[in-house]
Amino acid sequence: MDLKQFITIVPDWPTEGVLFKDITTLMDNGEAYHYATDQIVNYAKERQIDLVVGPEARGFIIGCPVAYALGVGFAPVRKEGKLPRETIKATYGKEYGKDSLTIHKDAIKPGQRVLITDDLLATGGTILATIELVEKLGGIVAGIAFLIELSYLNGKEKLDGYDVVSLMKF
Ligand code: IMP
Repeated sequence: MDLKQFITIVPDWPTEGVLFKDITTLMDNGEAYHYATDQIVNYAKERQIDLVVGPEARGFIIGCPVAYALGVGFAPVRKEGKLPRETIKATYGKEYGKDSLTIHKDAIKPGQRVLITDDLLATGGTILATIELVEKLGGIVAGIAFLIELSYLNGKEKLDGYDVVSLMKF
């Protein structure tokens, strides 16, 4: 299946000059969402995944059905102040200023093989912070899966040494 036909490109959103890739038109198509999820499930099955971890909010949309299909758990990575118990934090640079991501301190057991999921790899900041959180808790990043990679932003270079798959490249 050609998944790109289900992505809507929205010009000048959220700011002028940006060509935003809207994945909601893939998600609301049952066949396309199922097919995309299955591709990531197959990738994960070859890597003996114990746990799926994804950053809010679109990392949940990709990661939760994959975790369900694998029969493993899902641990959410959230913006600072959103998780109710003791967390650890990773700070990363954004276009304007900084942002922090957190995960519950007990979300990962040392040595667990983790699949990280997100909808889209742009500069790589979000996923690097997520990797940092997983590794700080002793998890092994056994795979990283995206629906979309924006190749022209070179985020992939920052993930050198990691096992990465993206279902579509723009
Ligand atoms: P990065 O940290 O620069 O790699 O940006 C990736 C994050 O920004 C992901 O969590 C995406 O959800 C979001 N993002 C950036 N650009 C787009 C886009 O064109 N469509 C959907 N999400 C985007």
